[in-house]
Amino acid sequence: MASEKISVRCCIAGGGPAGMMLGYLLARAGVNVLVLEKHGDFLRDFRGDTIHPSTLEVMHELGLLDEFLELPHQKVYELNAQFGEMRLTVADFRYLPTRCGFVALMPQWDFLNFLAEKAARYPSFDFKMEAEVIGLIEESGRVVGVRAKTTTGEYDIRADLVVGADGRNSIVREKAGLRVKEFGAPMDVLWFRLRRSAEDPAVAMGRFDSGRIFIALNRGDYWQCGYVIAKGQFEHMRRQDFESFRAAVVKLAPYARAGVRELRDWDDVKLLTVRVDRLLEWFRPGLLCIGDAAHAMSPVGGVGINLAIQDAVAAANVLFKALREGQLATDHLRRVQKRRELPTRLTQWLQVAVQRRIIAPVLVESGPLKPPLGARLLAKLPFFRRIPARIIGLGVRPEHVDPTLTRA
Ligand SMILES: Cc1cc2nc3c(=O)[nH]c(=O)nc-3n(C[C@H](O)[C@H](O)[C@H](O)COP(=O)(O)OP(=O)(O)OC[C@H]3O[C@@H](n4cnc5c(N)ncnc54)[C@H](O)[C@@H]3O)c2cc1C
Repeated sequence: MASEKISVRCCIAGGGPAGMMLGYLLARAGVNVLVLEKHGDFLRDFRGDTIHPSTLEVMHELGLLDEFLELPHQKVYELNAQFGEMRLTVADFRYLPTRCGFVALMPQWDFLNFLAEKAARYPSFDFKMEAEVIGLIEESGRVVGVRAKTTTGEYDIRADLVVGADGRNSIVREKAGLRVKEFGAPMDVLWFRLRRSAEDPAVAMGRFDSGRIFIALNRGDYWQCGYVIAKGQFEHMRRQDFESFRAAVVKLAPYARAGVRELRDWDDVKLLTVRVDRLLEWFRPGLLCIGDAAHAMSPVGGVGINLAIQDAVAAANVLFKALREGQLATDHLRRVQKRRELPTRLTQWLQVAVQRRIIAPVLVESGPLKPPLGARLLAKLPFFRRIPARIIGLGVRPEHVDPTLTRA
């Protein structure tokens, strides 16, 4: 970065799914855009590795799908769950009206690297890693840029628009003073990997047992595991013998016994704190928040990345012309929130309902687990598996890339 004056049309804080997709789309539309990412690479664990049918549809609309699917991935056609002794398919993606009737499991760093590479082809795209946004620059009540800390010092970057895509602990939304509504979550998630052998079951599986919930995603040679615990319980668990944790995992996933033995201690297990919240207003003059920065998503349904990408597509559609022509008004930012608020509200409402009605009761249950009514209905009426598939795979009001966005 040049030290004197850095000035761009749009400066995006955060190179996660929301920030990288918006950066790519704006660059493709010919908008001068800079993405700042505080880490030095995309190699972070616990980011969720699910690429949903709606995102794959966006990749198709951008002409990138075939090349994208050449990257190593696993295809998940259905989601399965076991409640006590009852096993069932909860969602079947094969019937979705999309090009890909599956969720692609792919390390998120591969997805983000792919977007970064594609974006780098456009001269109007700039991407800086190890560049952390630490403050906003404001003039007369309007955000006009950010202050960023890099390996070579601190810089002021001026922009017509600052986008906060810096995730659930967004510094941008905090510094902007945007008000947040918290919805609470009864659980946290312990995240770890177990070696997978050829004899293990092939499908993704959620297991609900008295007091415990366990998710295992097939990642080829390993299982990505999520062990759901009551909020705040981790400190108590850490004081206990690691062996009892190992035994609890083996009980839930007996096929992974050999992998569980390889877990050494609590350092092999990461705590992911679950939060659900939403900004009352996603914007201020000169500033917009999208993705988890605007609405931290629960891991329920694994839809957070999906929503982040959809926000990016909606924001690009609404903003690219105004940004390109230097005509951005606050009303454009209002239109982005208006477009994305309903899908976000409905999705969070469903997530909170599942947290309260299914997850919280299972976590405190000590007797035999009775499958919830919804699970019993899905077991009896397979046709209805298309509904969760639609909510998870496509979401509410899927976005499509404006065909005029690509600069000729
Ligand atoms: C336990 C758990 C499991 C989950 N599993 C899934 C799943 O399987 N599938 C799914 O779809 N969703 C999942 N989610 C939700 C998902 O992780 C998020 O909804 C999604 O990552 C949001 O994308 P984003 O781009 O808005 O933010 P993020 O992915 O959080 O990206 C924000 C980026 O901004 C960077 N950043 C932060 N601060 C700054 C700063 N000051 N300056 C510059 N850069 C900054 C960060 O390093 C990061 O790269 C899960 C969530 C949890 C808690």
